[in-house]
Amino acid sequence: MKILLEKGLSSSGARALSAALTRLLPGAPQRVSGGAITVTSARPESFSEKLALIENLPGAAAVSLSDAEACPLASSVPPPELPFKRSFIIIAGPCAVEDAASYARTARALARAGADALRAALFKPRSSPYAFQGLGLAALPAARRAARAAGLPPVAEIVDTPQAARLAAAGFVLQIGARNMRNYELLKAAGRAGAPAILKRAPGAPLRDWLLSAEYLLKYGDGRVILCERGDSFGRGGLDLELMERAMKATALPVIADPSHACGRREQVAAQALAAARAGADGVMIEAAADPSAALVDGRQTLGLKEFSALAKKLRALRK
Ligand code: PEP
Ligand code: MN
Repeated sequence: MKILLEKGLSSSGARALSAALTRLLPGAPQRVSGGAITVTSARPESFSEKLALIENLPGAAAVSLSDAEACPLASSVPPPELPFKRSFIIIAGPCAVEDAASYARTARALARAGADALRAALFKPRSSPYAFQGLGLAALPAARRAARAAGLPPVAEIVDTPQAARLAAAGFVLQIGARNMRNYELLKAAGRAGAPAILKRAPGAPLRDWLLSAEYLLKYGDGRVILCERGDSFGRGGLDLELMERAMKATALPVIADPSHACGRREQVAAQALAAARAGADGVMIEAAADPSAALVDGRQTLGLKEFSALAKKLRALRK
């Protein structure tokens, strides 16, 4: 932790600040140089616990934590064991589970085309309350059957806390949507549910906030966390590959990319997916379905089965 000293702080002021820091953080070594005090600790969580008090100390102009200090778990946990067969993960499926029969057909076709996991969303957080909200738990048995028949683990977004344990018990990989990246009670519930969790980055969220949300999943969960970059707007603008690459440096957790929600247009999805794969992403999430024109949500960005199959081949040529 670095505490920048106020300009012109007297040496007695600096000594008083250092003594106050010692009282707040007993045993944490301090080093004074270049107008700042650097404090280290074997328990960097203590910096976040005391941050408000430290920022208020007389003589402290600004306080900053490194990623490793702010997010000690996200910065240090090893890559988790995940329920996917391949190391480059292709998650595919329609935006939401809609009609059971066509969903099952889509699931089998996606598995044949090289998917490793199946999008199986039951709840859709929509900007409009009039828009299709998903079929909810009523569609859980059909989603599960389709996933099992296709031999793919199902992935579904949770939008409230009780859904976490419910979907985990049904064998789902949990997804925290972009709108809920900062829903801390949802993150705790997802962690406690003991299922793998995919964490979307909220549009505009800086890397630190994304990692802090991952830290919640890790603190309350079993370490099986995947980060998913999905761009800075709801439906346009593409992926932030530079930020994704910084995330890959900051954590050993897998980082995947969702070009479908980043682009909002199916014509742009393949190029962005391939760019993410070339940039070193650990996988992609792609919206794909047998009949995108019939989709009640996100059909415009959903690939048909042929397009998905062609993209999956190109991705596998790049990454296994
Ligand atoms: C989704 O993947 O179904 C979704 C709603 O994406 P996002 O949360 O990234 O908008
Ligand atoms: Mn969607």
